[in-house]
Amino acid sequence: MRLWPVAFALCCVLLAPLAEAANTVKGVRIWASPDNTRLVLDLSAAPSYKSRRLNNPQRLEIELAGVSSLNLGPVSGSAALVKRVYASRTPSAATAVVIELTQAAADTVFSLPPSPPYGHRLVVDLKPQSASRQTLAPVSAVKPAVPATVAEPKIVTPSHATGRDIVIAIDAGHGGNDPGAVGPNGTYEKRVTYAISQQLMQMINQQPGLKAVMTRTGDYYIHPGKRPDVARQKQADLLISVHADAVKNRKAHGASVWVLSMRRATTEVGRMLEQTEQHSELLGGVAEVIKDSANERYLAQTVLDLSMNHSMVTGFEVAKEVLREMGKVAHLHKKEPQAASLAVLKAPDIPSILIETGFISNYNEERQLKDPGHQRRLAQAIFNAVKSYFSQQPPADSMFAAIKQQGRAVPVASVGSGQTVAVAERTHKVKAGESLSRLARQYGVSMAQLRQHNRLRDDNIKIGQVLRIP
Ligand SMILES: [Zn+2]
Repeated sequence: MRLWPVAFALCCVLLAPLAEAANTVKGVRIWASPDNTRLVLDLSAAPSYKSRRLNNPQRLEIELAGVSSLNLGPVSGSAALVKRVYASRTPSAATAVVIELTQAAADTVFSLPPSPPYGHRLVVDLKPQSASRQTLAPVSAVKPAVPATVAEPKIVTPSHATGRDIVIAIDAGHGGNDPGAVGPNGTYEKRVTYAISQQLMQMINQQPGLKAVMTRTGDYYIHPGKRPDVARQKQADLLISVHADAVKNRKAHGASVWVLSMRRATTEVGRMLEQTEQHSELLGGVAEVIKDSANERYLAQTVLDLSMNHSMVTGFEVAKEVLREMGKVAHLHKKEPQAASLAVLKAPDIPSILIETGFISNYNEERQLKDPGHQRRLAQAIFNAVKSYFSQQPPADSMFAAIKQQGRAVPVASVGSGQTVAVAERTHKVKAGESLSRLARQYGVSMAQLRQHNRLRDDNIKIGQVLRIP
């Protein structure tokens, strides 16, 4: 659930007179050298900031006073150390820029006054903890002084997209003492749903820009009504519940996809509004500001209605895409998404679908559903549908959105006083006997950077392959 943009748009109107001196983040630039990563926030005014370290995941949160917009502007460059950069709200509703790290790193944060071609900047230097331990002698345990002038590269090289991962919650139906439906040959639905979900999780996690979370990670029971809560905690963009059908009629066969019914969604919105303690969770910091409970309820209702609309449209569109893809590998029981009032499909704020992968009560489909090859084809079809949907309709702050944008724009870099020039990117054609580690040394970059920059799954490279050098 990402209600913030909506909640914020509304609260802006209410809080406008209280706004502090305005500052805006105009863009974020990232670049890495072998032992240091620098991140620069370009700002419209001198920053007033506070930074703090947070764990799980490792991240640095920089609270910026007077910044009201959650828009960070364009993010250019990348570094192996930086997983993603995004804007967020602190519990006190201040805007913070969060730098999520791939490993622990020491940070130095300082601001720089305008110096053409640059304006006000906030600089964040990051050093991987392991590296600093190697290089810091005990005598130099004093924090290094902030340099008065900092040389910056004159050219911002175009790089691959950054942005957050789109989170897909995968719910393997049933589990533990609830086996789900049992096939005529004794196949448990809970095993089939778990096997398909695991395959789907792996496919999603291998796709840059997508991240999977599982509602259950083993053979145990979670009440269906609790499963959307897991998705909500993980801020999922989509919840996919995987099941297999069963009916008395052994002839019934084929897959179907279910979406939240309008009636159930409206009921759930009403229920969430009754639970006033949930309002603050829905509205973030705004609820603390709005002391008037009638207003709070009105705002919560508006946010939920907008959010419900969005999730129902998204759920329906994803469901159609899943049916299109599954139709290529399996028989379809119903060719259109079906609406239902099911416990797992109750979150009005998270796009949710339930996939019946086939009838486990049908001899033929029971055999198919047990087969790892068929399970993989089903998982692949669901994955293709998810990827295709989010490639077309990416959330604004996601890496998918940045990629979509870049697909339209020719990469150009800005140089100084507003001119733009195309920058020839360094590439390397792999020759016999070369390895990724050797190329990393040759170009003074890390292997992780090379892998990330070229979307490599492992360290294997082929002769003739052209690599982009970050
Ligand atoms: Zn089921």
